[in-house]
Amino acid sequence: MVDIPDSHPRKASLLARQSMTEAAARGLLAESAMIAHGRGEAFDYLLGERTIDSAASAISEAASRLRNAESPVISVNGNTVVLAGEDLVRLAAIIECPIEVNLYYRTSERISGLLSLLHEQREAVSSGTPPDGWLGDWKKRVLSVDILGADADDRIPGLEGPRSLCCANGIGGADVILVPLEDGDRCEALVALGKQVLVIDLNPLSRTARKATVTIVDEVSRAASELVVGALTGGNPSEWNNEECLKDALNAMMANQLNAF
Ligand code: ATP
Ligand code: MG
Repeated sequence: MVDIPDSHPRKASLLARQSMTEAAARGLLAESAMIAHGRGEAFDYLLGERTIDSAASAISEAASRLRNAESPVISVNGNTVVLAGEDLVRLAAIIECPIEVNLYYRTSERISGLLSLLHEQREAVSSGTPPDGWLGDWKKRVLSVDILGADADDRIPGLEGPRSLCCANGIGGADVILVPLEDGDRCEALVALGKQVLVIDLNPLSRTARKATVTIVDEVSRAASELVVGALTGGNPSEWNNEECLKDALNAMMANQLNAF
């Protein structure tokens, strides 16, 4: 990794780019992954690269819904594993839910590469420090997180081709799905099945953002680390007004940019 001084104002963004570039070189990402990442960066720039208050509320809401779910699951793609894998393993350990590798552009090479990376991340998290407020055997709990995706034995109705594939004991049977960086079509198909779909998407205008049950308009690594905190502090699901949350994010982007002049 290139050494970037702490004082560099774009350090986090540059480090994320490095991780993405290295993961692409290892064959872990689809060709379009960088385009998706660049679009995310542009919205994060508008937002001021911070977690706005309405996103913090969406994070608490999502954490409560995961905690109260019957069969929650965290669905991850390549960008998500690379940028936020370790915190999502922590979240899965606290919630006691599986993580499913589920790719829009599914190839067996990328699935197995991402499964290996997640296993490495689970190992690292299990031997690391437990999050503040955790009580109990952290190592055991982390190592009990199921990592799914190798055998896609189910389909999401309403979608065609490889992008409809999923795991019956993951997305297929879930009532609440946290799916960062999801595609609009699939988000809509999952909502149509009556599932609660919790997304992380920096673009408040995307179809994903508008179709989801709860949209966290925040960068995936910042949101994942706050979800860990939210999952440990708890709270009950509310009547959630997602449209208000999206409008607030758009307003925050405009206000932030106008203040720059
Ligand atoms: P949709 O299918 O929902 O209409 P899209 O087709 O415009 O969206 P996709 O390419 O499917 O976009 O998905 C990329 C989405 O992920 C973009 O909305 C982008 O803003 C968001 N995104 C990319 N990187 C990040 C990140 N690091 N954190 C949060 N969101 C991100
Ligand atoms: Mg899309």
